Amino acid sequence: MLHIGCHLSTTGGFEAMGKTALSIGADTFAFFTRNPRGMKAKPIDPDDAAALRTILEEHHFAPLVAHAPYTMNACAAKPELRELAHTMMKDDLARMEYLPGNLYNFHPGSHVKQGVETGIFFIAELLNDVMSPDQHTTILLETMAGKGTEVGRTFEEIRAIIDKVELSDKLGVCLDTCHIWDGGYDVAAHLDDVLAEFDRTIGIDRLKAVHLNDSLNPLAAHKDRHAKIGAGTIGFDALARVTQHPKLRDLPFILETPNDLAGYADEIKRLRAAFSAE
Ligand code: FE
Ligand code: FE
Ligand code: ZN
Repeated sequence: MLHIGCHLSTTGGFEAMGKTALSIGADTFAFFTRNPRGMKAKPIDPDDAAALRTILEEHHFAPLVAHAPYTMNACAAKPELRELAHTMMKDDLARMEYLPGNLYNFHPGSHVKQGVETGIFFIAELLNDVMSPDQHTTILLETMAGKGTEVGRTFEEIRAIIDKVELSDKLGVCLDTCHIWDGGYDVAAHLDDVLAEFDRTIGIDRLKAVHLNDSLNPLAAHKDRHAKIGAGTIGFDALARVTQHPKLRDLPFILETPNDLAGYADEIKRLRAAFSAE
């Protein structure tokens, strides 16, 4: 069974997201823990969180993949921005405890000309500060396209961060197909090789979720622009193969394609059809 969903709006609260997911044939989803382009977070209603937990259990959802705001930069050059990232992630992790057992994904950060090594140092430092042995959330580092000074374009950079984190049993990776394609990994023609390289460098057991996106750009463009599944340079068949790969097929797949809900429902339906046809 393919576990698939998309990004959902938090406007109506947690239970509403669960119901929306069911209405579009999803059995996982992603949501922003706070305003993706700001930092504001709504107070959590424990009853609303409990209502969502009931839906997730009754309908056998795969783990949810919450997403940190884009504005959070763990390796900013300004200490006050790193402090802000610290405050946001600490608070996000406390909020995630209302939905225990799920995933929290973040963009490792942009080193803003301090160099990759300094970036990696600050990212690991933040994780070591905010993680706790008691947390019930696995934190995911997202693979990036390498736009600007983004850290996490190569599997080696991701591995270097993990190596510096003490509680690394609570740390995993979210593979974004558009990002790694734009980053130079050919998931269309050489999926097996890409996954073998991931396994050699990071360890395939670290892989906990996939962001399933087509790309508007050619391989290795270092750009990061998502396309609808089948409307980009990776293509529907290659992305369907990603969902069916023996090393990936049990993971939650999150669509971050430019769609409204009806468009997402359609993508989910087409990908489910291709999956069961195997
Ligand atoms: Fe992301
Ligand atoms: Fe992504
Ligand atoms: Zn992206």
